[in-house]
Formats: sequence, C-alpha cells, structure tokens
Amino acid sequence: MKSVIVVGSGIWGSSSALRLAETGWQVTLVERHRPGHVRQASAGETRLLRCSHGDDDWYARLAWQAREGWLRLGERAGEDLYVESGMLWFARKPDGWEHASAQVLKNLDIECEVLDPADGRRFFPDFRGDDLSFLLWEPNAGVLRARRATQVTAALAQAAGVRLVRARAVPVAGDEAPYGCAVEIEGEIHHADRVVWACGGWLPELFDGLPITVTKQDTLHFAAPPQWSLPETPAWVDHGASAYGHGDVDGVGMKATSDAEGPPYEPEHGPRVVDPGSVEQARGYLRRRFPSLAELPVLFTQVCQYALTPDAEWLLAEVSPGVWVLGGDSGHGFKHGPAWAGYVAGVLDGAYEPEPRFGDHPRTPSRGLRTSGQTW
Ligand SMILES: Cc1cc2nc3c(=O)[nH]c(=O)nc-3n(C[C@H](O)[C@H](O)[C@H](O)COP(=O)(O)OP(=O)(O)OC[C@H]3O[C@@H](n4cnc5c(N)ncnc54)[C@H](O)[C@@H]3O)c2cc1C
Repeated sequence: MKSVIVVGSGIWGSSSALRLAETGWQVTLVERHRPGHVRQASAGETRLLRCSHGDDDWYARLAWQAREGWLRLGERAGEDLYVESGMLWFARKPDGWEHASAQVLKNLDIECEVLDPADGRRFFPDFRGDDLSFLLWEPNAGVLRARRATQVTAALAQAAGVRLVRARAVPVAGDEAPYGCAVEIEGEIHHADRVVWACGGWLPELFDGLPITVTKQDTLHFAAPPQWSLPETPAWVDHGASAYGHGDVDGVGMKATSDAEGPPYEPEHGPRVVDPGSVEQARGYLRRRFPSLAELPVLFTQVCQYALTPDAEWLLAEVSPGVWVLGGDSGHGFKHGPAWAGYVAGVLDGAYEPEPRFGDHPRTPSRGLRTSGQTW
C-alpha cells in the first residue's frame, strides 16, 4: 500500500488526507494543534464560495465542482456546511472584472444574471448603489461554515482510516536532494512514499525561498438587525473596493470586512487582536453602501492570516523527489477544498503533472483571482 504523510490539518491538508485515504493510500496526518484550531486560516467562522474569478475559467470550474463536494460532505456529516444564499457582485465599471466573470460563467453554464444597481434594494433592506455600473448575481454562490467544515472533514478522514498525530513536524535533509521523503517529529524520522506539507502560513518558516508572504487579516462581524441574516440577504463582494461580507450566520453578526493585504504576520505567536483602524475602515464602507449599518456595534472579530503568492495562484510543487509543498492559497482557497484535494491526489498518484501555474517559480504580481481589486 502506498503511504503518505500530510502535515497540516487545515482544509487543504484534511481534504487531501480524506481523498488520499479514500483512494487507497495509507495516510498519516500530522497537526501541531487540532483540526479547526483558531490559528488556522481554515478556522474562520465563515468563508465565501463563489465561481466568479474574472477571466480565469480554471478556478471557476474547480469552484463549481467543489460546491458539489461540499453538498455531498454536508449530507455525509448530516450537517448544513454550506448556506447557498447567492452572491451579489458590485461592479464599478461596465467592462471590468465582473464583466469578465460573467462571460466565463456563461461559457461554463454556471447560472448568473446581470442586474441594474437599483435592483440591490430587492436583496438588502438598505442599499446605495449610485456609484455602480451593474450588479452580477450568482445564485449558486454562498457561505461555508468554515471552521465546522474543517473539523468535519478531518473527522471523516479519521473515519476513513487516516491516523492523526498531534505534533510539530519539520523537514528532513535528503542525501542527494534538498529534502528527504520523510518528516522529523521530536527527533524521530518517519518515512513515507510521499510527504505533503500543507502548512498554510507556516510554510515560510519550514522552507526557504518560497514565493509566499504572510499577512494579518482582521475580520469583523457587526450586530445587525435580524433581517440582515443568511439566506434572506445574500453574500456580497465589492471587488473594486476590496470589500466583502454576508448576512448573519449562527448569531455571530453581519460580516463586513476588507480583502486588502494587511501587515506582515507570524501565525503561531502573532497577536489575534483586530486593529481599531480595521473597524473604522469597515464602517466607512458600510456608510457608503448600507448607510443604516454604519454605526452598529462590533459583535465578533477574528484575526487570520493570508499566505499570499505574488499572483494569487496557488503552490503545488515537488521540492524534492516525493516531497510536495501545498500552499500559497492567497486568501481564496477554502471553497475549493474538496475539489482541489481530488486534483492534488491525482498529482500524487502520477495521473498528471500539476499545471505550470502552480510551480515554485518567479511570479508576476496580480490580484485578479482574489476578491481584491484595489485597497480602500
Ligand atoms: C480573513 C480570511 C478570509 C478568507 N476568506 C476566504 C473566502 O471567503 N473564501 C475562500 O475560499 N477562502 C478564503 N480564505 C482563505 C482560506 O481560509 C484558506 O485558503 C484556507 O483556509 C487555507 O487552508 P490551509 O489548509 O492551506 O491552511 P491552514 O488552515 O492555515 O492550515 C495549516 C495547518 O498547518 C499546521 N502546521 C503548520 N506547521 C506545522 C508543522 N510544522 N507541523 C504540524 N502542523 C503544522 C497548522 O497548525 C495549521 O493547522 C480566507 C482567509 C482569511 C485569512
């Protein structure tokens, strides 16, 4: 039986472990804390699922497949992991990112509709869209209960035979290659046919020279009135303003936050306290778009980290024979979890080479795949 050690039980590591176990691999999942622990990027209370990715159809197709995956996982777990509230995109230009997204969605037969800015009032109790060119409605987009989904995925992986080891693993030097196909845990070396390092924002401390920058991201939820809940109000993204949010899920309040890159961050010891400037920034956006919400109290906050590559393309690279680095999610990798794990398993099985876009090579800066067109 082929063996693999997956390090990191965020959604990428847990989904990969589950998929590999279900396709005949003997899997060990090594996690320093616990699946769903609060330092993980995957432990955000919620994450958006959307198929729009500007003019890119690869991620759009993968997101659509992942939606099926989440619905199936939710059925298996007997839980609603995904709230399909739909999503409204606020387009500032007639021929910008949202226009390109709509073209791609139409080509892929993924439902979407172009609406007038005045239609925003049909979706939200209060809405100002006089600065917008149009709205793009994506009815099959929505919101994942992310932290819970990560815990469920890791539990399903264990039920499928994955051995979960609670420890910090470190890479091992190879004899004739930079790294050996093994991990070191508390001085002991553990070998496998493959090793996958799915360590999110911790990857730069484990491997030198990766094209990954880690940033602090403040997330804010406001105490909005009950009509601002999911699925009654949809999720929303203002790509041009790097702003996004959604109605209340499970009583943590209405999310309104920024996708702009925060300051450099260290995920293990960095303070998990939001900056007062982030609150002011979010209020400034609410004042412009949903004016009645601008002075609401903050109900819930989270600090999380992005593991950003310069071009927001992910990293799936064999850094030594059998040793794979899986990371650089660039703040848009949660939704794809189940489908991306299928792709990763195919690569590990040798069924195909990873797309060149995922390689460990110099990259040209671009934010196009994220929900961030510009900073506020
Ligand atoms: C504020 C914010 C908003 C986001 N919004 C969205 C969104 O709306 N939609 C979307 O799709 N994505 C979104 N994302 C991105 C998404 O959360 C990430 O793409 C995803 O969670 C990445 O998962 P991961 O498994 O790569 O990393 P993580 O979840 O960070 O997991 C890495 C794990 O590795 C473990 N680890 C690290 N080093 C070691 C070691 N040496 N030994 C053992 N274990 C180790 C860590 O403890 C951790 O558990 C957002 C991210 C943030 C921060």
